[in-house]
Amino acid sequence: MSLLSVIVPCYNEEENVACFFEELIKNQPFFDEHEIALEVLYVDDGSMDKTADEVRKLRERDERVHLLSFSRNFGKEAAMYAGLEHAKGDYVVIMDADLQDPPALLPEMFQGIWEGYDSVATRRVTRKGEPPIRSFFARMFYRIMKRISKTEIVDGARDYRLMTRAMVDAICSMQEYNRFTKGIFGWVGFRTKWLEYENIERLRGETKWNFWKLFLYSLDGITAFSTVPLMISSVMGVLFCLLAFVMIIFTIVRKLVFGDPVSGWPSLVCIILCVSGIQFFCVGILGQYLAKTYMEVKKRPIYVLREKL
Ligand code: UDP
Ligand code: MG
Repeated sequence: MSLLSVIVPCYNEEENVACFFEELIKNQPFFDEHEIALEVLYVDDGSMDKTADEVRKLRERDERVHLLSFSRNFGKEAAMYAGLEHAKGDYVVIMDADLQDPPALLPEMFQGIWEGYDSVATRRVTRKGEPPIRSFFARMFYRIMKRISKTEIVDGARDYRLMTRAMVDAICSMQEYNRFTKGIFGWVGFRTKWLEYENIERLRGETKWNFWKLFLYSLDGITAFSTVPLMISSVMGVLFCLLAFVMIIFTIVRKLVFGDPVSGWPSLVCIILCVSGIQFFCVGILGQYLAKTYMEVKKRPIYVLREKL
């Protein structure tokens, strides 16, 4: 008998908790046939609604249900990490509570594991039902990441992924504070099989990510898996030195040939503005990395538990 741990990060998902479980155990015949035992870890990420109560109710009916409750909202990354840390299974899968990650794919995912892969991951090939600006920026993020990071981060990849124990242990050994799991999956390596499916819209409730939250998350991703932005300031420094050199020559020649040393105040102001703007930009990049390093060296826990069932 092998054990499958299902990790479900939940933030204000009271109306989805039970539906998710029902949908999941539609796979019961498959689990029985292949002697797979189940444990479902709901990670309540500081929900303000009755998510934890719903899970407790579910647990009274079915003891395979477990609950980890955070003391406040720590974010989905922290919830996934807590789940991975507490999962006892030989196989572990992470799924959203809103059924955007269809549990019906599980048999196909197991097929991949039995073929010899260490993990089976999913990616959306469409972004149907998502605001177009969000899709546009998401695509741009993946394109930029592809260029500036050595770690493979796949466009449209979900966190919905079935993993073997070895891979889960590898992920848990990465205890960084600024977590970007999509990058961590790529970083640890292992043989991964990709399944594709069309985007499914959220069952009930609202998405927990607004544009700003996603933007900050993308910055986390960039600073966690690339140091190329730090190089930008050096490159710009060199370029501007070259430019200044050319302009010095130009000014000297103009003085000697045309005798015109004083014109050019407006252009001077423009240049000063431009250069100081770029300096601020570069100091800002530096600051981003410094801030991340600061949070990292503090070694704060990634999450705080309030209750564990
Ligand atoms: N989630 C979480 N903590 C948060 C935000 C989201 O645990 O701070 C969970 C949420 O309950 C859901 C999953 O992460 O199960 C994905 O969130 P959501 O569906 O809102 O994101 P989307 O699918 O729109 O990207
Ligand atoms: Mg969702």
